[in-house]
Amino acid sequence: VLDWPSAVSFTTRTTYPPVRRLARAQKKRILVTGGAGFVGSHLVDRLMFLGHDVVVLDNFFSGSKCTLSHWVGHPNFELVRGDVVEPLLIEVDQIYHLACPASPKAYQLNAVKTLKTSFIGTQNMLGLAKRTKARFLLSSTCYDEGKRVAEALTYGYARQDGVDVRVARIFNCFGPRMSLDDGRLVSNFAVAALKGEPLQIYGDGQATRSLMFVHDLITGLIALMDSSYSEGPVNIGTVDEGTVLSWAEEILSLVKELRAAGSIAPLPLGQLESTIEFVPAVVDDPPRRKPDISRAKEQLGWEPKWPVRAGLEETILYFARQLEEGQN
Ligand code: NAD
Ligand code: UDP
Repeated sequence: VLDWPSAVSFTTRTTYPPVRRLARAQKKRILVTGGAGFVGSHLVDRLMFLGHDVVVLDNFFSGSKCTLSHWVGHPNFELVRGDVVEPLLIEVDQIYHLACPASPKAYQLNAVKTLKTSFIGTQNMLGLAKRTKARFLLSSTCYDEGKRVAEALTYGYARQDGVDVRVARIFNCFGPRMSLDDGRLVSNFAVAALKGEPLQIYGDGQATRSLMFVHDLITGLIALMDSSYSEGPVNIGTVDEGTVLSWAEEILSLVKELRAAGSIAPLPLGQLESTIEFVPAVVDDPPRRKPDISRAKEQLGWEPKWPVRAGLEETILYFARQLEEGQN
């Protein structure tokens, strides 16, 4: 006798995070490329909460299916494994184009593929926007070669073909679901502090960065997409500028506080707390990053709301859970 439960018991999942009910006229079909990544998955969460139909296209190069598992099977949600360098034929109202290896480790792994993703991938998604008359938002950054070509293509399609475009230039965003090993400041320092390993500063630590918690970025991206402002790129970031050394000290002290409060596991017996260590600088490391966000304030009525410290705390707790799960 085959002792196997009926298939129905596998298909009646009803426990999803809550989503708003929208009237058909307000409900948009939204494509998020790179939606399984760090920023993309938070964007998908917000768009789902708002009640839209969301399609994610991702090749899982640096993203993970786990970031979206809580939506799989929901009638408003669809996850497509695919590569933006291949054309995609679907009908959509909006496209958030985020697909691109973003961390230094990921984009240096295969520089040609990164450029193809930026160039051919963006061209394909702009072509899709042109055919479907969808509004297109590019997640850009400050003067990286691939993004430069992606921005040029985006404004080219806007001028020549009348595609309705938005360009966000994103500055140093962090939060839960960042990869533990992506090589960026917050993940490197937080994971090192949690493991009791040295926090390595490249150079003298006097370069500055302004850190933004991911929920502020998502609010900014949606505000930009829904705004009428299409004339030029909009910086999305914070003005909470600090030196790399000061961020290392803050993250280390937060980890110690959380450990003292019992919110994260103590270090193994005999293991000392992390120290801060200076190692040789990396080439072409920008000495300063502090975005001018006046355009976002004026045009979108957007400004960051999250205190960086609260964001860092949530992110450290996330990393601590990930490390604990990895050990089991
Ligand atoms: P991420 O690596 O977590 O996400 C990128 C996603 O794109 C991943 O899920 C990856 O699998 C997917 N992807 C990569 N190449 C693809 C391809 N060819 N086809 C389909 N999917 C592909 O990175 P992130 O931090 O979430 O960044 C998202 C976007 O925001 C990127 O475009 C990045 O350049 C931009 N950005 C992020 C920051 C930041 O601070 N996080 C700063 C500036 C710009
Ligand atoms: N950084 C560092 N140690 C690390 C990771 C980063 O000193 O383990 C420095 C890096 O050299 C840079 C800053 O932190 O000056 C921010 O690096 P990140 O890669 O997060 O962002 P970006 O340089 O792209 O702004």
